[in-house]
Amino acid sequence: MTETIVAIATPNGTGALGIVRLSGEEAVSIVSKFFQSTPSLEKTEPWKAVFGKVISLPAAINPQQISTIDWAVAIKYEAPKSFTGEDMIEIITHGAPVILREVIRLAIHCGAREALPGEFTQRAYLNGKCDLVQAEAICGMIRSQSVKMAQRQAHVIAGNLSEKLGGIRSRLLEILAGLDVLIDHPDEPEVTQDFRPESLTRDIETVHDQIQELTATFRNSYKIREGVCIAIVGAPNAGKSTLFNCFVSRDRAIVSEVAGTTRDTLEEFLEIDGLLVKVIDTAGIHETQDALVQAGITRTRAAVNRADYVFWVIDGTTEIIRDTEEFLDMIQDKPTIILWNKKDLPGFKTQLLPINGSFHKIGEVELAAATGLGVETLKLLLTEHLQDRFESQEPVGLWEERQLELAQEAAKNLKGALARAKEEFWDLASAEVREAASHIGLILGKGQITDDLLRKIFSKFCIGK
Ligand code: GDP
Repeated sequence: MTETIVAIATPNGTGALGIVRLSGEEAVSIVSKFFQSTPSLEKTEPWKAVFGKVISLPAAINPQQISTIDWAVAIKYEAPKSFTGEDMIEIITHGAPVILREVIRLAIHCGAREALPGEFTQRAYLNGKCDLVQAEAICGMIRSQSVKMAQRQAHVIAGNLSEKLGGIRSRLLEILAGLDVLIDHPDEPEVTQDFRPESLTRDIETVHDQIQELTATFRNSYKIREGVCIAIVGAPNAGKSTLFNCFVSRDRAIVSEVAGTTRDTLEEFLEIDGLLVKVIDTAGIHETQDALVQAGITRTRAAVNRADYVFWVIDGTTEIIRDTEEFLDMIQDKPTIILWNKKDLPGFKTQLLPINGSFHKIGEVELAAATGLGVETLKLLLTEHLQDRFESQEPVGLWEERQLELAQEAAKNLKGALARAKEEFWDLASAEVREAASHIGLILGKGQITDDLLRKIFSKFCIGK
C-alpha cells in the first residue's frame, strides 16, 4: 500500500483561501477523522465539493468536545480519475498559515506523511497519468513568469511534445525492426532482395533532421523561460538610467546629472506582449583611468554579450564626438535600436553617426526618456521584432536542458548509424539506432529511469505539486 501524503498546495503567507491536498489509499479515511460534513466524506459523491468543518483532534476522539477550527470545502477524487491517479482529497480552508499548518498536523496525526517536493506529480508519472515531459511542463507552468511561458507549457501538458517524441521513437523502432531482420537473416534472398540501403539512409536522415529541428527550438524556449535580454548602452549622461526606469516603470536606477553614476549593471523584468523581458542598465562607455568605472565597463561588455537586443541611447542635444568605435566593437551583430534621447530639450537633433564600420540596426526612435515621450513607440517596435521571432515558432519545443542533452545524444547516435550504414556494418548501425530510440524514450520517461533521476527532476518542484 502506498503511503498517503499530505501538503499545503498554496503559497506561504496569508491569503483569502488555502488548499491542503492528500493523495493515497487512506486519504478519505484520514480526512474523515477531522473533517465533518453531511453527508460524510466517505458517503459524499466524488468530484463534487462538500461543505463542512475542520475539527480539533480531541473532538474526533470525544464528540462532546467538538471544537471547530475552520469551515472548509473538501473535494474527493476517486482513483484513477485524479491528478495522481490515486484517491485524493483537497481541503479548501481560510488562508491563515496557522489553519493550514493545523490541518497538516491533523492529517499527519491521523496517518498521513508530509509530501516531498513534486511527490504528487511524481506519483502521477509513476501511475501513468503523464509522461516525464508533461511532468516537467507542470513544473514549468507553476514557475511561469509570462503568459507565453504558460501557453507553451500548456501545449506540452496537452501532449504535443510527447506526441512528436513518440512519433520519432516509433519511427526509430520501425527502422530498427527492418535492420534486425537483415542482421538475423543475412542469407535469405527474400530479405536481402527487399532491402534498400538508400531508403534506410533516407529514413535515418529524416528522423535525424526532425530531432535537429527539435533541438533548435531550445534556444527560444530558453529565452521564453529566462527572459529576452535587452542591454541599454550609451555614453555617460545620455539618459540610460532614465530610460531604464521609464521602460520598466519603476525608479530602480539612480538618475544623476553627474556623468558616470551607473557603475554597476542593474536588471529588471517586465512583460511585453506576454513575453518575459529582462532589461539591463549598464555603465556608460567612455575612456577612463578610474579602476571602478573600468570595472563597470567590463560588466557592460558582459551584459551586451548576454543581450538579445541593444538599446543604444544617444543624447540628441550634444555632438557625438567619440566612443562610437568602442560601441561598434561591443555590440557587433546584436540587433540594435538607436534611441535619440532628450527630444524635449531645445537644440535636440538626430545626427549622422560618425561610424567606421557596420552594425545590425533594426530601428531608430526619437524620445524623451524623462517625460516618457516616444517610449511607447519604442515598445511597439520591440514588440514587432519579438512577435516575428517568437510567434512564428512551432510551439512544440524542448524546454529542459535534460531533454536537450538526450535529443543531442540521439542525433549523434543517428549520425553514427549513418556512417556505419555507409560501411554496411548493419549490426553497428542497428546498435546506434537502438541507442537513439532509447535516448528519445528517456526524454519521455520510458526505459531505465533511475530513482536518482526522478529525485533530480522532481526536487525542482514546489511542495504540494
Ligand atoms: P545615464 O548616465 O546615461 O544613465 O544618464 P541618466 O539617466 O542618469 O541622465 C543624465 C541626466 O540627463 C539626468 O540629469 C537626467 O535627468 C537627464 N535626462 C535623461 N533623459 C532626459 C530627457 O529625456 N530629457 C531631459 N530634459 N533630461 C533627461
